[in-house]
Amino acid sequence: MKKLILPLFLISTMAFGQTNLRPQIDQKASEIESKVIEWRRDIHQNPELGNQEFRTAKKIADHLRSLGIEVKENMAVTGVVGYLKGGKPGPTVALRADMDALPVTERGDLPFKSTVTTVYNGQETGVMHACGHDTHVAILMGVAEILASMKDQLEGNVKFIFQPAEEGINEEGVTTWGAKQLVEEGVMEDVDAIFGLHISAQTEVGTIGYRPGPAQAAVDNLEIIVHGTQAHGASPWSGVDPIVTASQIVTGLQTILSRSVNITQNPAVVTIGAIHGGIRHNIIPEKVEMIGTIRTFGDEQQALVHKRITEIATNIAESAGARAEVNIQKLYPSTVNDLELTAKMVPTLEAAAGKDHVRVNPPVTGAEDFSFYQREKPGLFIGLGGMKKGGDPTKTPSHHTPDFYIDESGFILGLRVMSYFVVDYMGMK
Ligand SMILES: [Zn+2]
Ligand SMILES: [Zn+2]
Repeated sequence: MKKLILPLFLISTMAFGQTNLRPQIDQKASEIESKVIEWRRDIHQNPELGNQEFRTAKKIADHLRSLGIEVKENMAVTGVVGYLKGGKPGPTVALRADMDALPVTERGDLPFKSTVTTVYNGQETGVMHACGHDTHVAILMGVAEILASMKDQLEGNVKFIFQPAEEGINEEGVTTWGAKQLVEEGVMEDVDAIFGLHISAQTEVGTIGYRPGPAQAAVDNLEIIVHGTQAHGASPWSGVDPIVTASQIVTGLQTILSRSVNITQNPAVVTIGAIHGGIRHNIIPEKVEMIGTIRTFGDEQQALVHKRITEIATNIAESAGARAEVNIQKLYPSTVNDLELTAKMVPTLEAAAGKDHVRVNPPVTGAEDFSFYQREKPGLFIGLGGMKKGGDPTKTPSHHTPDFYIDESGFILGLRVMSYFVVDYMGMK
């Protein structure tokens, strides 16, 4: 018997070698909770749009340096990357927070409400942390403090990625995101796994949501131009009507979701958001332009939907004697949580939140630029509850709106779970 028990014991301590640091994390998280809330309020009151997060970046860099963490600034414009070398060799675990705010004018009467204004796309607007990225920054600053306090015990290294412009930047015709830029600058090269969280205004504090595999959609812009032949509205037979053709294409596109996509696996969306064509009631125009958005889950489904859009549009147009030009611009890839990593980390989520407070989320048709990191290395992105206990998610203002509100009592779970990710992952290697 002895022979059998000893190796089993060894295996179990090897597999969970660093979970013994959890009580230390809990202790430290309670100690710094109020400080994290203060940081968050300061950042909330001083929101900065994507690639303009100068004040936020300085606050982060100063804090990381004060903890003895090696800091690189001006990554992907305003990004800050901190590197904490653990006392023992092991994997490098990356943790990510996004720093940007949105052109939204804050309502409500929080004492730390934003009164910042700017001009965006030629319009006067307020600036607000209406997606909760202020909470992500404050939480990750706290996690840095927790892990720095136990660095000698860490069996590996931690990379703290504070990225700009998650909501995207569109300047001079170039569309990009902080995560994409950082990946291009090599931020993921020495990383073994990456973890991130998003606060959720519709999820009760104390709850963690996750989804294995494709969790959030890929977003692509769609443009279809239907070229016909102009004619008098009274004699359509003398031309080729692009309006009738465009109408058939719009309805034809809906068959992709009902007939081509395996809806038992993942949903998909094709939406035409605008149709422009024509000038007068009795003129059949020469062309019709349509724009829309495509939401898909995973590369395979994305390729299928793109192929079907092109086939349907060009063939319907051809059957009418018209010609359709299809342009698809890929924006965010799908946020795909690595299956193996997710399965490994579920016990970590349960240890942090309690089994009853961990749930599998439905797929989300919105996007997240965390996906760019996950294309490089295995990654897990989770949702963290930020709604008041007992709140009604259907009546709670959603993200990106002026009344968006986050309950700060949810932060401590963020501190704990992000720190657990690091020590648990290190213990597994
Ligand atoms: Zn957002
Ligand atoms: Zn966001």
